[in-house]
Amino acid sequence: MTEDDQQNPYRSPVDAETEPTDTTSIPGSVAFVFVSGFFLLLIQFTEAGYLVWRQQNINLAFWLFPAVPLLLLISLAFGGKVAWACSRYYFGFSFLLGTGIFIVRVISSGDDMYITELALLCSQVANLVIFLSLGHPKSRAYFQMICPVCNTDYPQPADWLCAKTTCRKCGHQW
Ligand SMILES: [Zn+2]
Repeated sequence: MTEDDQQNPYRSPVDAETEPTDTTSIPGSVAFVFVSGFFLLLIQFTEAGYLVWRQQNINLAFWLFPAVPLLLLISLAFGGKVAWACSRYYFGFSFLLGTGIFIVRVISSGDDMYITELALLCSQVANLVIFLSLGHPKSRAYFQMICPVCNTDYPQPADWLCAKTTCRKCGHQW
């Protein structure tokens, strides 16, 4: 705790008495992220395998390999704000993009593309679940998005990756 924090006039005694956030055990919402992530990878690997087999094109496997979600899930296992922020951006954006592609494909669908469309839809459900689970207060606490000084969940990112965040209430930077 710095001197500034101790002299902060905005810090009420109630805040100081609040239980410190437990970041040791994995909360349910974070477990949900990993379960959904596992299903997302399973769907994407199955879909990639199906398309490679159907089109008899082994090079397709390289392009369809779900490297980004895999790397993000591994980084989430290590924890931290940067992994949280990158994952939130990625899974939120993937959901919007994937839903857009799904709608376009359903509108313009011709031949037997049912399996890939179903996989696309399931992927978006998984993307959305991961995005929402990461936004859950317990997930935010687990990934250190809650101020360690006043325990307020109202940080302002000091950079776009959230490597440093500033508390909007007490001004503490962590
Ligand atoms: Zn604070």
